[in-house]
Amino acid sequence: MIRQFELVERVRSYDPTADEDALNRAYVFAMKVHGSQKRASGDPYFSHPLEVAGILTNYKLDSASIITALLHDTIEDTPATLADVEKLFGHEVGRLVDGVTKLTRIELQSDHTKQAENFRKLVLAMSEDIRVLLVKLADRLHNMRTLHYIDDAEKRRRIALETMEIYSPLAERIGMQELKSELEDLAFAELHADIRRSLLARLNFLREQGGDLISRILEQLRDTLRSAGVECQVSGREKAPYSIWNKMQHKNVGFEQLSDIMAFRVLVDSVEDCYRALGVIHSRYSMVPGRFKDYISTPKPNGYRSLHTGVFGPERHRIEVQIRTQDMHEIAELGVAAHWKYKQGGKSTDGRQYRWLRELLDILEHASGPEEFLEHTKLEMFQDQVFCFTPKGDLISLPRGATPVDFAYAVHSEVGDTCVGAKVNGRIMPLRTQLNNGDQVEIVTSKAQTPSPTWERFVVTGKARARIRRFVRTQQRAQYLGLGRSILQRAFKQEGYEFTEKAIEGVLKIFKAPTADDLIVSVGEGVHTGREVVAAVYPELKTQPKTNVVPLKARSKNKAQENAVTIKGLIPGMAMHFAGCCHPLPGDRIVGIVSTGKGVTIHTIDCEMLEQYAENPERWLDLAWGGETNNRDVHVGRISLVVINEPGSLGNLSTVIAKNLGNIRNLKITNRTTEFFEMKIDVEVRDVKHLTNIIAALRATPAINSVERARN
Ligand code: MN
Repeated sequence: MIRQFELVERVRSYDPTADEDALNRAYVFAMKVHGSQKRASGDPYFSHPLEVAGILTNYKLDSASIITALLHDTIEDTPATLADVEKLFGHEVGRLVDGVTKLTRIELQSDHTKQAENFRKLVLAMSEDIRVLLVKLADRLHNMRTLHYIDDAEKRRRIALETMEIYSPLAERIGMQELKSELEDLAFAELHADIRRSLLARLNFLREQGGDLISRILEQLRDTLRSAGVECQVSGREKAPYSIWNKMQHKNVGFEQLSDIMAFRVLVDSVEDCYRALGVIHSRYSMVPGRFKDYISTPKPNGYRSLHTGVFGPERHRIEVQIRTQDMHEIAELGVAAHWKYKQGGKSTDGRQYRWLRELLDILEHASGPEEFLEHTKLEMFQDQVFCFTPKGDLISLPRGATPVDFAYAVHSEVGDTCVGAKVNGRIMPLRTQLNNGDQVEIVTSKAQTPSPTWERFVVTGKARARIRRFVRTQQRAQYLGLGRSILQRAFKQEGYEFTEKAIEGVLKIFKAPTADDLIVSVGEGVHTGREVVAAVYPELKTQPKTNVVPLKARSKNKAQENAVTIKGLIPGMAMHFAGCCHPLPGDRIVGIVSTGKGVTIHTIDCEMLEQYAENPERWLDLAWGGETNNRDVHVGRISLVVINEPGSLGNLSTVIAKNLGNIRNLKITNRTTEFFEMKIDVEVRDVKHLTNIIAALRATPAINSVERARN
């Protein structure tokens, strides 16, 4: 068992600023709370957290990680609580211990169906602080080293399988080659003890036959490089049994001599020397075709960098050579842990960990082949979520199906509102592109951009949708404001006045409008007509109309006015009014329907409402428009339109109608989608021909999708 001062010394050897006091307290605390608990080996339980801490000192981790290792089983297995740990060791350690505890609980659920979901949680936990995973991997390593003490064979098998399927690939994905190999080999010993034994026997046999083969090759390689002026260290090793077996299975090959399973490593001082060493080796020995790989110019996703080549080396043995610098070597062995050393700050805010996670997720997403970590079925665990990254490495988690627009809004509302484009993994992509796990997304913004209503069709997050809707509402208000203003300008002009906002200030109360803009908008929306507003501002107009243009509403209440329209076939003195369903216009063929007490209602001959009077022929009157219609007479025609929902389209609409001497009297939006407005407009016109002209002009307007005379 590592003694207290030894552990502290180890940490201090690479981190002189380590919190010695906290390390000591954690050591004592863990020893105390684990008390007399025993491991399956018969050792005191405390030896386990201590060994885990010891493993992590090999990776030169910061004191928070070492303390976490000491405390990692206290919450799950002793009376100690998270609150105790936080109180004694602070928030950072509390958070880390909590993370490891959660991973342990996940592990304890052996239910296979839950494994997928569990792994997702694992990754999520990692995304908070990768040190949690480092402690967990060290924990697993020590448990694997002591696996043989467990009596229950089924339990051993399950743990070994889990190690092989989850932990060893995780270790590899975060670049911890050394730890991965050991985990794998320990699991292999449990799962395929016979195979491993026979492989070891074969290795022994070859070793005896070949004599000191490895050192002979190693020396020759070193001499060759040094005499060419390349300063280097050369080492050689046999591959681990599991990796030999894996290769035999995977490539379907056996091994005849030791050199088939040897790898030599050349460590040099600089990247330049890597390529020089490669040149020396290639000129001295013949290359094995297809074995050269340059992971320096193209690093592996887990950050691994090295040159690999295969040559027929000394004594014509086929060997594998890896060439790298000391720094590259450290990363190759320690992986993410190499980035996590105390000297780099060890802060959880370091964006580095997110890049690692991004790369990890990327591999998970694109995993294929039996040796890959997760088959596609297991990937379903990510079904409901995608994890993406900002160019700075911040993690943005989004629902599956999310697009760059969702991403932009998740980063900041402002970014969403002004986004014009997106680069996904460095390539410009459409804003509607669905994002994938691990995508790096860079949002291109422009101050001139505003949210487009069409975005609402493809965004999936509530935040994006709410912002877009809010903007569209504001934008629509702006459109109604413009439309209302032009309706009012015309209405005022007809009475010989000029429209100003000041003019309507005095009548706001009448219309219950808080501001002049609100009143103008309500006119644009068709809540009030321009005429109503004019009448309110100039009450004297009601009694003394300045022109022949008489409000139809007033006329319909006034029998004399109504009769001023000459219609042939009416019974003299009888009240009449135009039907609201079909809005007859001079030029239309018309009929009258007599109702007791209400007089005659005039319909167009094709009005559907007439059907209900089919059984009462006595109520029908044959009518016709009288002679020449007075050009000053005003009638109301109703049209229904589908207008494309885009800035300015409502403005275009009112301009076209005005140019054709029509006047919008009333406007009602009956349906509104992100793409279209469906609306009905009452237009004041002279006759049916006038209305037909306006319809034709509207049909020629690009912003208008369809237009027709409204029938009911
Ligand atoms: Mn443990």
